[in-house]
Amino acid sequence: MLGLMDPTLAKVDAFVDGQWLNRDKRFSVRNPANGKVLADVSECSAEEVKMAVDAAHRAFPEWAAKPAAERANLLYAWYKLMMNHQEDLGLILTQEQGKPLAEAKGEVAYGAGFVQWFAEEAKRIYGDTIPGPSNDKRLVVIKQPVGVVTAITPWNFPNAMIARKAAAALAAGCTFVVKPASETPLSALAMAELARRAGIPPGVFNVVTGKDAKAIGKVLTEHPLVRKFTFTGSTGVGKALIAQCAGGVKKVSMELGGNAPFIVFDDADLDAAVKGLIASKFRNAGQTCVCANRIFVQQGVYPEFSEKLTSAIKELKVGNGLDEGVTIGPLISESAVDKVQELINESVSQGARILIGGKSTDMGKLFFEPTLLGLVSNHMPIAQEEIFGPVVPMIPFVTEKEAIQLANDTEFGLAAYFYARDIGRVWRVAEGLDYGMVGINEGAISNPAAPFGGMKQSGFGREGSKYGLDDYMEIKYLCMGGI
Ligand code: NAP
Repeated sequence: MLGLMDPTLAKVDAFVDGQWLNRDKRFSVRNPANGKVLADVSECSAEEVKMAVDAAHRAFPEWAAKPAAERANLLYAWYKLMMNHQEDLGLILTQEQGKPLAEAKGEVAYGAGFVQWFAEEAKRIYGDTIPGPSNDKRLVVIKQPVGVVTAITPWNFPNAMIARKAAAALAAGCTFVVKPASETPLSALAMAELARRAGIPPGVFNVVTGKDAKAIGKVLTEHPLVRKFTFTGSTGVGKALIAQCAGGVKKVSMELGGNAPFIVFDDADLDAAVKGLIASKFRNAGQTCVCANRIFVQQGVYPEFSEKLTSAIKELKVGNGLDEGVTIGPLISESAVDKVQELINESVSQGARILIGGKSTDMGKLFFEPTLLGLVSNHMPIAQEEIFGPVVPMIPFVTEKEAIQLANDTEFGLAAYFYARDIGRVWRVAEGLDYGMVGINEGAISNPAAPFGGMKQSGFGREGSKYGLDDYMEIKYLCMGGI
């Protein structure tokens, strides 16, 4: 399997306290492009997850006490190793997740970019001094790491969703235990091997693997030694995990689902809008939380935009992510395809029209045709739920006010995009959208320097940027008297 230049990156056991934990009980990881088993991975029980939390707790005092520059150097070494092994990490990622190799390598560089960013930020954890209420007092604020951090991550970005969290946690001085999605644990385990090679001490970065997400999640959210829990995944699961954390009053951050509006105004550069939409919508076959999910097009440019978009969609190539020139890989599972198909069928039954695509290709069920739907309306399920597939539902609108109102008419608030040239409109719309991130004349917005996160039921907390450390730090106020 895998065809790696460095086959020792193909790890199949959990990584706890610097050791590979080989269990008799195992679960299979399959390549969605051909259904073949890639690896049989150790299945951790709740006991082993507790061992990982204990190991992280033991490692915490020494890791937290290291000078920031030392933690930074270790993170930097990890970043360098990830980049040196970008090709192999990409191959692992494409084979377990399905996305085209160029995209997979892009994700590795994106994930590694967060490790590099937080290696730098580790040295800039500043406190404050505050003018006191009287001359005999001095008020000081320091920041300290929260302690043991646990995480659960999804399958759509098997590298980056871990890197974004772990890098910030480790930079802050926290220790870390992650449960990757059971479809895609191999990227996480390869990252653990590289963390080991980088010299990150035992117990600081741990990976627990398994299919019993409920049992593992219970330990990660309820163990008394866990001080902070961070989750990326669906809103439904996120809500249940928030409730589990409530018992121990854990610090929590949540990166949940999205329903991104993509608005094309009649003063937009339509070619740029088409390019931005293709980038935003079809990356990872439409399986991203920040994917354009509803495409609002102003009446005057609807026919021209639809025509240009049709031509661009026809250029996309569906296939095995390892094959040259493929831009859309398979969807992750049959149930994912069923959900996408159901949303399309329901929209058509309510009056939408299929302009291109609409079903799986003859390469197999998981390979779904890039699809364009016209005459969709905002109340249809396809416009209210995350599609998580390569489908563009177009919704016409008339006024700017209507576009903002339609865009905000959802329980989600992660990413939004719009294309317009009028400067007044740009400000009005940017400020009017209830979203954590807004792309203005831009379809690809995420990078390590920017705060990633949502509003409303898309979650809370920010990853990346100068704000990304805040979720892993406690603010402590010191009042010195008698001066
Ligand atoms: P999911 O079903 O919520 O699964 C995410 C993770 O949670 C997986 O590791 C899964 O484990 C685990 N899990 C599932 N049920 C659990 C439970 N009862 N207790 C504890 N853990 C549980 O989401 P997904 O389908 O993998 O990922 C897609 C979702 O993630 C979408 O909604 C997408 O928008 C969201 N997402 C958000 C962001 C963001 O930054 N806001 C980024 C990427 C993705 P198993 O794999 O073992 O089931």
